[in-house]
This record gives sequence, C-alpha cells and structure tokens, in this order.
Amino acid sequence: MIFYFSTSSKEKTKVRKLIKNKFDISEFGDEISSEDFQSLEKMGLLDGANLWVIPEGTKLLKTYEKMNIGDYVLAYVDGMYKYYGKIVYMMKNKKLAEKINTSSLTKISECIFFVDQFKEIKILREQFNKIYHKDDKFIPRGLYNIDDKIENLLREEFQLINPALKTNDIVQDNYLVENLNKVINTLGEDNIENMISQMSDEEFEEFINSFDSTASIQTKEGLKKIRKYNNEIIDNLKKRYNNRCQICGDSTVKDFGVSIVEGHHIEKFSINQNNKPENIMILCPNHHTLIHKCGDSIDLKNKVVKYSNGKEEKIIL
Ligand SMILES: [Zn+2]
Ligand SMILES: [Zn+2]
Repeated sequence: MIFYFSTSSKEKTKVRKLIKNKFDISEFGDEISSEDFQSLEKMGLLDGANLWVIPEGTKLLKTYEKMNIGDYVLAYVDGMYKYYGKIVYMMKNKKLAEKINTSSLTKISECIFFVDQFKEIKILREQFNKIYHKDDKFIPRGLYNIDDKIENLLREEFQLINPALKTNDIVQDNYLVENLNKVINTLGEDNIENMISQMSDEEFEEFINSFDSTASIQTKEGLKKIRKYNNEIIDNLKKRYNNRCQICGDSTVKDFGVSIVEGHHIEKFSINQNNKPENIMILCPNHHTLIHKCGDSIDLKNKVVKYSNGKEEKIIL
C-alpha cells in the first residue's frame, strides 16, 4: 500500500529538513528498548536512517495503525509530492520522536517509522490528480492510504517501484511465467485482449475452463490475476482519456451514456511487459479492428499510427 502525507505550508521548511535528515540513533540507545535496538542493529539502521514522525491527532493515528512494514510513503510538501520511501521499521517511542523533532513542529505523536530507499521525486499535484481521479483541485491533507486500484498505475507512471515487482507473486515464479506465456501465445492476441477487457466474469470463467487439458490450476489462477491487474490499468486509462478513442477522439458516453472504447496492447502481450500503461492504447472499436487488420506500426513518441497501405493517422490524445 502507498500512504501519502502532507504538511502545512507554515511548517514545510522544518518538515523538509526532518524528512531529508538521516538520524544517528545509536546515541539514543537509552531511549530504545533492547528489542528494537537489536532489530535496528541487524538492519543496519542504527547509525543513519530516515526517521519520519507524525503529529498528534486521532485521525492520523488511525491511519498509522493501518501502515505496515513494506508499505510505501509519499510526502507532499510545497504543492508537490517530493519524497518517497519504503517503510522498513516502525516503533512507538514518544521520547525518541521528540528528540528527532528538534525543529519543534506542532505536537508530535509517539509514532515513528523508518524509511529506506529514500528518493527525492517530483510529482506535481495536477499530475497526481489526473491519475488519482480526484477532483482537479484536490489537495492532500493529513495522512491517508491511496486506493489499491490506482496504486499500480501510480507506481508505473512514476516508476516509484522497480517495475519487475508489479505483478509481484506472478513474476517471481519463473516456471509460472513461462507457462503463462505459453498459454498466452496459443490464445493469440485477439483472444487475450478480449479475455482481459471485454468478457464478463462468467464468460472469462467459462473461457479458461475450456482449455482444461493444457493449463494447470496455477496457470488459470495466474491468468485471473493478470486479467484483474490489466483491467484496472485499462479502466484507469479509459478514465484518463475520458472514454475517448486516442486516434479519432470519439466517445459514445455523451450521446448514449455508455462507453465502448477498448484497450489495445501495442506490443505483443506477454507477462512482464503486458501491464505497462505505455503499452496500452484506448481505441474505439473501429480503430481497434483496423489496427488489428492492417495496422503497421504505432509510434507513440511521434504520435503516429501507420497502416499497411501507407496511410497514416495522428494519435490525438
Ligand atoms: Zn477511433
Ligand atoms: Zn488490440
């Protein structure tokens, strides 16, 4: 899960300092329980770690209880998301929190978390809102977790996390990946896209049951996960493009109240590369069919689609 927290403009300088500083907490040995001390020593966090503290407040504390080691945090300072890291250790220690908080921010709570893989980033509020699908004017306040649904997209978009970790439990299993890619190859591109974005859950269930003999239960489960993951990305992209075709800009939503755009995978669909937003285009059914029948190349950088008869079309969105 990703959490974000924001700071008031009054305190941004202090907060920035606090966030960026590495603390040598070996000198606070007396304040830390021997259990915590040993764990931190083992992790190599004693003589230099980014320690983040949060202010007092019931709401903030409630969110802190939801945070876990392994989660990520984004800090919003000064109109943008500026700092990012992984939570590697957490502890409650009022005395230590107060010592860290030398710049005397507003009342600090006992909650401390240790941040590793600390990165300075730059995600503008507008950019974030575009993906997060909050209102344009949405300004983060307090400490919150980001909706699961958009987490992957956000990670992808800003490469916050090693892309290899995306489908996590799937990509870590080489045997399964190989197997899934075999199944995907035999299914063919059209079937894959259909399976991912158009089939109802029942149809999909029926569909994967139909290749019983070639696929193990594990492979089926893998396909289910991939479908879920890809649907989320495609849904998010559809929202981002307002359900309009990226080539002709058409949308049926205004006139008919329904969206008929589809997700198209630019490069051949396979595990490890299938799930990048930059490999997916949102198209109306006509352009989608056209590209499958006589598309030659898609050049996203120069925003041009070339067809086999030599015709070209611009990608307008
Ligand atoms: Zn179109
Ligand atoms: Zn397609």
